Amino acid sequence: MYRLLTTMALYAFAALLLPCFTAAQTEAPLKRFAFSHPQMGTLFNISLYAADSTQARKAADAAKARIDEINNSMSDYMPTSELSKLSLTSGSKKAVTVSEPLWLVLSASQELAVQTKGAFDVTVGALSKVWRKAIRQKTMPAKSEISTARKSVGYKKMQLNAADKSVQLNAPNMQLDLGAIAKGYALDEALKAIEQHQVSRALIQGGGDLVAGDAPPGQPGWQIFAKWVTPQGQLRDTLLQVKRCAVATSGALYRFLESDGKRFSHIIDPRTGMGVTHAAMVSVQAPTAMQADALATAISVMGPRKGFAWLQKNYKAIPAIVTFQEKGKPVQLGKLRE
Ligand code: ADP
Ligand code: MG
Repeated sequence: MYRLLTTMALYAFAALLLPCFTAAQTEAPLKRFAFSHPQMGTLFNISLYAADSTQARKAADAAKARIDEINNSMSDYMPTSELSKLSLTSGSKKAVTVSEPLWLVLSASQELAVQTKGAFDVTVGALSKVWRKAIRQKTMPAKSEISTARKSVGYKKMQLNAADKSVQLNAPNMQLDLGAIAKGYALDEALKAIEQHQVSRALIQGGGDLVAGDAPPGQPGWQIFAKWVTPQGQLRDTLLQVKRCAVATSGALYRFLESDGKRFSHIIDPRTGMGVTHAAMVSVQAPTAMQADALATAISVMGPRKGFAWLQKNYKAIPAIVTFQEKGKPVQLGKLRE
């Protein structure tokens, strides 16, 4: 009995010491490395802490490869992507079994479409094409173009069958567009890929979105900039320290078409077929970048006040900051969490 107790005491002592040793081993010589990768029409920037350049490069290469894989599957610009091929089956009355990642993103999209009554809708592709062209050519789309495209848009026309993870698109010429969610998913997956190389202290940014892993050594979080508007209406960056969360920003700040004194965004209200005209900027902070990305776009579609109220009601724990002009005055709702 005495011996058993001593052995147990020894084990307990060893267990107490162990975390100190492992912590000392992983904490000591970490160095910061940075990588960038152009993909999905934007630049992905990776910052991470690793023991040496070999480990850092392996982790970053894995992240880049994962981002490429997701782009190859989910791009609506690439005719060979899994998503584009799926869109080509629309109206054929055939259900197509899709890959696990595409299933995950499409089911999350469809869930949000139901929750937002179609404000968020990844079947918006036919309208996206019309508005992308309009923005490029700086000309308003013809009413007939919009009404034709609307026939191929609507989340209720996309049927997801959980039993065999298949998708059936029930109207002709439907075009799926994951532009509001796939980048977020790619960020989450890139972080996971990095973590598989025993690197947990990483920050990945893509366009206006980011995902943060563990904090840099000895610091409370990664320093990031969140955008906001001063009472004088100037755009400013505010410093925030974050870890283990994601922040996505959506807004009509850079991509829009000016017509009749209104700015029509590349973010579309699928229920009217029109580019949204409230130039609000929305940042959402969520556990995953996929969720942050999709919610930021959903709020942009609903409009700043309605969208923010909707988020507070349906996602109490998710912080967001929404800035916009109202009657010529800047308004700011909510704030992000450190
Ligand atoms: P960013 O282009 O800055 O990443 P978002 O994340 O808001 O901004 O995504 C905008 C993109 O989402 C559009 O370019 C289009 O491809 C797609 N989209 C537009 N309107 C909607 C909508 N109502 N629901 C889902 N996706 C949309
Ligand atoms: Mg988005």
